[in-house]
Amino acid sequence: MKLEWVDSHVHLQDAAFADDLSAVLLRAGQAGIIKMICNGTSQTDWPMVLDLVQKHAAIIPCFGLHPWFVKNRTADWLDELESFLARTPSCIGEIGLDRWIADRDEQVQEEVFRDQLSLAVKLNKPVMVHCVRAWGPLMDVLQSLPTLPPAMLIHAFGGSAELIKPLTQMGAYFSFAASVLDPKREKARLALQAMPADRLLLETDSPDLPPSEPYRMIESIMMKDGSCRNEPANLPLFAVKIAEIKNVSLDELSMQTTNNAKKFLTLAG
Ligand SMILES: [Zn+2]
Repeated sequence: MKLEWVDSHVHLQDAAFADDLSAVLLRAGQAGIIKMICNGTSQTDWPMVLDLVQKHAAIIPCFGLHPWFVKNRTADWLDELESFLARTPSCIGEIGLDRWIADRDEQVQEEVFRDQLSLAVKLNKPVMVHCVRAWGPLMDVLQSLPTLPPAMLIHAFGGSAELIKPLTQMGAYFSFAASVLDPKREKARLALQAMPADRLLLETDSPDLPPSEPYRMIESIMMKDGSCRNEPANLPLFAVKIAEIKNVSLDELSMQTTNNAKKFLTLAG
């Protein structure tokens, strides 16, 4: 039987897929990808994400305001977000904190993140979290909440193994992309090794986080900036290496990560 996978973090609304999304989705299906969690990032792309969901059953949406795009929000952004969430089964994301991007307003990032965490509690929705170089602030925000969202998925986890326990106690799942195989990412690899099986998910973050040579298909499209466009069908290629690191069979990894994704999505509606 063909192995089944869930790509737990993608941005299929990205302009990089404008010309050939149906071919991308076809390859994903052939590669055994049964679901893709597609993340909105700003008010501009929420309608595109909704449109994709209405056309393709394998796409599950998240609507949220990404920390990179907090500046462009309108006064009624939170109401608009709630109205998108009401239209279809969905999660809240991609939301979070980022202290890597140069042009940032940390205070506004935190305010917007807190607003969306409160909305998740109010609507009983899971959240998709982006955290880059902001682990201390993330823990502070989460620990300060009177009530936590029912579940959270920390995508492209790059934190240390020590964070797994406290975050798990707060309901976190963790997803890893091919980037964890980068020789420079020793810390993330140690976290992957330490990750409990029932908390682990996999993602490509397509079209971002272009995987290195052995972990991408020959058909991969090169982008204008010379990087390689990532796509969901790449997931089983690097999953082989993840299974090796976790010392489990590919079968087991597929079953476990798919079950974890389904559990995370239980409350999506
Ligand atoms: Zn993302």
